[in-house]
Amino acid sequence: MQPVGTPPASSLKIYLRLLGYLRPMIGLFAISLLGFIVFASSQPLLAAILKYFVDGLTMSSGSTFHDIPLLGRLDLAYGVPLLLILVVVWQGLGSFFGNYYLAKVSLGLVNDLRRALFESLLTLPNTYFDQNSSGHLISRISYNVTMVTGAATDAIKVLIREGLSVVFLFGYLLWMNWKLTLVMVAILPVIGVMASAASRKFRKQSGKIQSAMGDLTHVASETILGYRVVRSFGGEDYEAARFRASSESNTNKQLRMAKTAASFTPALQLVTYSTMSALLLLVLLLRGNASAGDLVAYITAASMLPKPIRQLSEISATIQKGLAGAESIFSQLDEAPEIDTGSLERDRVSGRLEVRNLSFSYVGSDKRVLDDISFSIEPGQMLALVGRSGSGKSTLANLIPRFYHHEQGQILIDGVDIKDYTLRNLRRHIALVTQQTSLFNDTVSNNIAYGDLAGAPRADIEKAAEDAYAREFIDQLPAGFDTLVGENGVLLSGGQRQRLAIARAILKDAPILILDEATSALDTESERHIQNALDHVMSNRTTLVIAHRLSTIEKADSIMVMDQGRIVERGTHAELLAANGHYARLHAMQFREETTAAGGSEPEFDRQPEGQAIRSSTITG
Ligand code: ATP
Ligand code: MG
Repeated sequence: MQPVGTPPASSLKIYLRLLGYLRPMIGLFAISLLGFIVFASSQPLLAAILKYFVDGLTMSSGSTFHDIPLLGRLDLAYGVPLLLILVVVWQGLGSFFGNYYLAKVSLGLVNDLRRALFESLLTLPNTYFDQNSSGHLISRISYNVTMVTGAATDAIKVLIREGLSVVFLFGYLLWMNWKLTLVMVAILPVIGVMASAASRKFRKQSGKIQSAMGDLTHVASETILGYRVVRSFGGEDYEAARFRASSESNTNKQLRMAKTAASFTPALQLVTYSTMSALLLLVLLLRGNASAGDLVAYITAASMLPKPIRQLSEISATIQKGLAGAESIFSQLDEAPEIDTGSLERDRVSGRLEVRNLSFSYVGSDKRVLDDISFSIEPGQMLALVGRSGSGKSTLANLIPRFYHHEQGQILIDGVDIKDYTLRNLRRHIALVTQQTSLFNDTVSNNIAYGDLAGAPRADIEKAAEDAYAREFIDQLPAGFDTLVGENGVLLSGGQRQRLAIARAILKDAPILILDEATSALDTESERHIQNALDHVMSNRTTLVIAHRLSTIEKADSIMVMDQGRIVERGTHAELLAANGHYARLHAMQFREETTAAGGSEPEFDRQPEGQAIRSSTITG
């Protein structure tokens, strides 16, 4: 009895894969199966009780239970009610064990899938996040997984319980009158054809609904995260329209699915009940020597049959939804993780960084973002990278911890290609402060001591905060180091967020420090303080500093000017000024701006209060 129709090969594969997750829970599954067998076996028993009841009424004397052991001498008046209660208790026990243990299995499955999805997020390469919106990734974890629960709990429950009910009832009917029963079999292919046509439709529609759900989450999360921009640029109407469109498209798709399901069930009912009426006719014609009780029991059992059949036909939709959900879940699980083929692990590296003929393009574009870059930094040295926006500075910084995978050229740490280190070990040696600071909705101290640093002694955290010049504002927070910073640190200013990110990098105490515009959101005074602190932390490590404000890098051992992915100039501050090239031009321009801005006391021309929202205008050409 499989009214779902034969699923296409790929559905079968998805199913088998889902079943693979059930393997460890096979014991629980067996208990549940047993429960449902008990439940289903009670169905024909109920019809059989009626037989005794009706026969008892028509025979009007003695016990009708003479063919049942133990009950033989029982009076009809006590026998039927007692038997009824026994059967219902039997049914109840089966129902409990079936439902509870199946829920245990299916919720376990959902838990496994959710965790697998989340864990895959931790290993997927950056490019995956570039190509998939967070909305879709989140809705996959929250929505698609629940669709699979539907398939795993409701559908399997119905499939087993109602499927077995059909089997038992059918067996009973065959036993009572096999000729009559075979007539009913004629309708089964009709039901099968209808069900398989409907299930294909369900599957397609459900896939669309799930992707529409992702669109919905995507639009909502963009508006929520960017609500300031939405309001200050009057984007309300645009966002409202965008959300309305994806919400309506979602509703329409759900409605179309409901329509398919709603029209499918009555059509099936019509087929089954037409057969039922034909059956009634046949029962009367082919009565033979059957007693009234036999007829009543037969008709009762036969009329109990359409309900489980209908429920079985309805799970088709649930299963198809689950399969569509599982399909997108498995597609994420099948994505290749970050390439991590290296095997070298070092406790500590000296921090010599060398780049040889490095070229790089992002996946899906043939534009060279980095073009034949070569340089080296000795341990303890500071190299500064300047250049106009989009010249490839952050890209270079991202390649060192292997956030992206480069094909051409080499990056070496202590003379070893970074591809030879394990990713985890490589990243232990590098402290990176990115352009967009990321803070977690946790306390200040937990944000500084994050990840591998969790559990660092309080004194070290405080020292790092002090070195990052963050102490003065942390002490003024309501709960000091135990203050919650809000989602991505919204309760802090841009400069405060940046100082926490710097404190985190300082606490990490890695031999290689990469600062990507780490001081861009700071006012000149804090920047000077941080500069002093950084001079101190930089003194015994290799540092790569990317900066727009040239005043922050004058002391660098070497400065490289990048333009369109190439290094166009390199040297010390003095050398580059003397060369009177790109750097000298940038410097003159900033100096001019600084002096005009310095009419007041605080030249803050380069502040970026909202992270990336306002671009610095100091290096433009
Ligand atoms: P800025 O000073 O504005 O931070 P940058 O020098 O750091 O600029 P990059 O972020 O390295 O510049 O970007 C260099 C080029 O690579 C740009 O043209 C950008 O469009 C492109 N780019 C950056 N990130 C990606 C990405 N994830 N996928 C595809 N292209 C990207
Ligand atoms: Mg950048």
